[in-house]
Amino acid sequence: MEEIITKGRQERAGAAMADPDATRAAFSWDDAQALLDGLPGGALNIGYEAIDRHVEHGYGDQVAMRWIGKDDSRRALTYADMAALSSRFANVLRDHGIERGDSLFALMGRVPELYAAAIGALKAGMVFTPLFSAFGPEPIRTRMEIGEANVLLTTAALYKRKIAPWRDEIPSLKLVLIADADEAPEGCVALGPALDSASDKFEVVHTRPEDTALIHFTSGTTGKPKGAVHVHQAVVYHAHSGRYALELKPGAVYWCTADPGWVTGTSYGIIAPFVHRVTMIVDEAEFDLERWYGIVRDEKVEIWYSAPTAIRMMMRAGAEAAAPYDFSSLQFLASVGEPLNPEAVIWSNEVFGRPFHDNWWQTETGGIIIANTRAMDIRPGSMGKPLPGIEAAIIDREDGAVRPCAPGEIGELALRPGWPSMMRAYLHEQARYDKAFAGGWYFSGDLAMADKDGYFWFVGRADDLIKSSGHLIGPFEVESALIEHNAVAEAGVIGVPDETAGELVKAYVTLNPGFEPSEDLERAIRGHARKKLGPAVAPRAIVFRNTLPKTRSGKIMRRLLKARELGLPEGDISTLETDET
Ligand code: ATP
Ligand code: MG
Repeated sequence: MEEIITKGRQERAGAAMADPDATRAAFSWDDAQALLDGLPGGALNIGYEAIDRHVEHGYGDQVAMRWIGKDDSRRALTYADMAALSSRFANVLRDHGIERGDSLFALMGRVPELYAAAIGALKAGMVFTPLFSAFGPEPIRTRMEIGEANVLLTTAALYKRKIAPWRDEIPSLKLVLIADADEAPEGCVALGPALDSASDKFEVVHTRPEDTALIHFTSGTTGKPKGAVHVHQAVVYHAHSGRYALELKPGAVYWCTADPGWVTGTSYGIIAPFVHRVTMIVDEAEFDLERWYGIVRDEKVEIWYSAPTAIRMMMRAGAEAAAPYDFSSLQFLASVGEPLNPEAVIWSNEVFGRPFHDNWWQTETGGIIIANTRAMDIRPGSMGKPLPGIEAAIIDREDGAVRPCAPGEIGELALRPGWPSMMRAYLHEQARYDKAFAGGWYFSGDLAMADKDGYFWFVGRADDLIKSSGHLIGPFEVESALIEHNAVAEAGVIGVPDETAGELVKAYVTLNPGFEPSEDLERAIRGHARKKLGPAVAPRAIVFRNTLPKTRSGKIMRRLLKARELGLPEGDISTLETDET
């Protein structure tokens, strides 16, 4: 079993990464570039690096994807199958007059055609933008308007319900492909027959490394989603981070549970795994505990990349629910998207025999930036250390002046720009983009601190920080303490205005099975929090809820809890998923 928090190895392994100067001196992007092939004349294409080159190297017969349908049907596609299907898709686009630089939006569930379409569009030099198929009509429409969509790939049902009423009002839209019907609605093209009659040979477009490849919308946790622009060069970092932070390697059985509608589901649910020639598991269905445990066991998943929201659901069901399953195939577990509570690291180590390794990044960064790798011991609750090639720091920024913070001091998590997958722009929002840079640093909008050994600790989003009686309180610390109470499944913590204290800490919690809301329970949980955190930081009030408001990518929307608490407008809720009181 892997060690957690022990010293020892950490000194040796951590040293090189703890010192950014040493890391920079020892590291060269050439090492990452060497994981790829490139195309003649300095061209670089993500689709080619992910799929076609493996076929050229003689690995066409290796399974690229084992797909599990909602109805438990199965499909397996080799790298040769994926190359052919994506080439057919690229030819369909070309046959319909779609050109290099045009943009393709995908709005559909996780089926192999979605993955082939992503690769095919990239091979054709197009810009790929995935959306969550569960989005409502309005979020779809605004994103397609902002991204000036030229092609939409969707299903017959989604088209009818969500697109048809306003389709004619998007002037940029030239082509709508329907993935799952032999006969398409009027004005659309049925993808199946078009693929069948298209050639399975396609010469990959020689895109330049700086050509736009992907546009990803942020999760909308803190406000209106931004469209982050990424280029083909990003694949260098996907390869690099896939190796260091996820341990991807040829033939490994890998399951990323994220939907491509969220950046994790593209960077590490399509590109990085294929670049490393893994066998990827794709499940069409949504989270279901027994289904997920069954998939890990039956598919012999070795590397598993998931998110705290799913891990907390597993914890809620208890270790007993996991006991009947064999998890011995698991080699490496990683988590992203929200802070991973220390409790979850320890729990997973006990139940799966391996801890979840937390890592931190954003839509903007395009890839994993700070991670717990196997080269260091885990300090539960810490995001880990910057990957090689990354310079990260905690910086205080006031009126344009920047000041590095001392170990243990809270400041904004900042990164030195220059790694390949960094966004190149926020689409049509130059001012918002410029505001994220100062003094040679990119500012993430997250507050964190670094300890003297170079581990980074998440405190909260800058917007979520609570100031109470002179204390700065990060919601994560309070939430983590709350979920250590055996009744609490999840917690969202905000500050509410108070005349004397400035703000008071208020918590919204959901309960584990077998517990009912009551005044006694509220008092007990508050007492537990006070013991763990002290009276200044512990919540003064606790509200029980059936669910917490979350984004489609599984993030607690604290700003919404706060807006409701204060009776303020809810703001942009286009990405809101769960929401019952
Ligand atoms: P928006 O920018 O639209 O408000 P968002 O920031 O949630 O939404 P994403 O880019 O999907 O959009 O999420 C990145 C953010 O998620 C990070 O800035 C951070 O706040 C949070 N996050 C991701 N991973 C971690 C982690 N391991 N620990 C703590 N927070 C994390
Ligand atoms: Mg963000």
